[in-house]
Amino acid sequence: MSDNHLLRIDDLTVRYGAIEALSGVSLRVDHGEVVTLIGANGAGKSTLLMTISGLLRGERGSIRFAGADITRAVPHRIVRMGIAHVPEGRRVFADLSVEENLELGAYARPPDRQVRQDRDHVYALFPQLAKRRRQRAGTLSGGEQQMLAIGRGLMARPRLLLLDEPSLGLAPVLVTEIFKALQEINREGATILLVEQNAHMALRIAARGYVLESGRVTLSGAAHELEGNPGVREAYLGE
Ligand code: ATP
Repeated sequence: MSDNHLLRIDDLTVRYGAIEALSGVSLRVDHGEVVTLIGANGAGKSTLLMTISGLLRGERGSIRFAGADITRAVPHRIVRMGIAHVPEGRRVFADLSVEENLELGAYARPPDRQVRQDRDHVYALFPQLAKRRRQRAGTLSGGEQQMLAIGRGLMARPRLLLLDEPSLGLAPVLVTEIFKALQEINREGATILLVEQNAHMALRIAARGYVLESGRVTLSGAAHELEGNPGVREAYLGE
């Protein structure tokens, strides 16, 4: 079977005991795209990302990445295959320095010149991190911690970057900065699946989007179509 999608999810159902968090979700991400998944609190967005990265196991359905079946693959193999997950809540290692956090992001790779180059590239994307490279990550501001979490994801040289609500709790000016960096990361070749409650910003940088409600995909289409959809405008764009 030919498969041109970088990520292809079919009929995925995931439960936490009696709670069905995802019900028959199907979704595609093509090479080079930014795709966004929007949905309210509790819609199942984080569950979807955690299942892709192997932290949760689906009860039914399949996940294919770059043509390979990863439905039952373990997380470290999924990282090695080229998927990096930046979880919600900027989970950085608070007691380690900025630089040590970045180095940990490359744990699946041998330490070499390329790792140093990638680290410098993260500093070019986020100059604020360069200034604080020796500082403990726990002392950074929320926005800087989010930059560090994204930078750490990039250190794995992902083909697909999974981002869970990078704008959560950040001041608008930082949100703009982070979304600009995401566009740059995409231009440089990474495909992005972006989970957001901030539908305004997400639809602005995405080519396509999916709307998730109570564990089901209720709508999908080109970002500009979703932006014009009355239901989306009312529920997610506050209009
Ligand atoms: P949020 O933006 O709040 O993270 P979300 O769209 O990412 O929301 P999920 O966190 O994926 O939603 O949650 C989907 C559903 O699964 C919710 O009903 C939630 O209460 C439930 N859920 C999530 N984690 C667990 C868990 N560990 N145990 C039981 N139920 C859970």
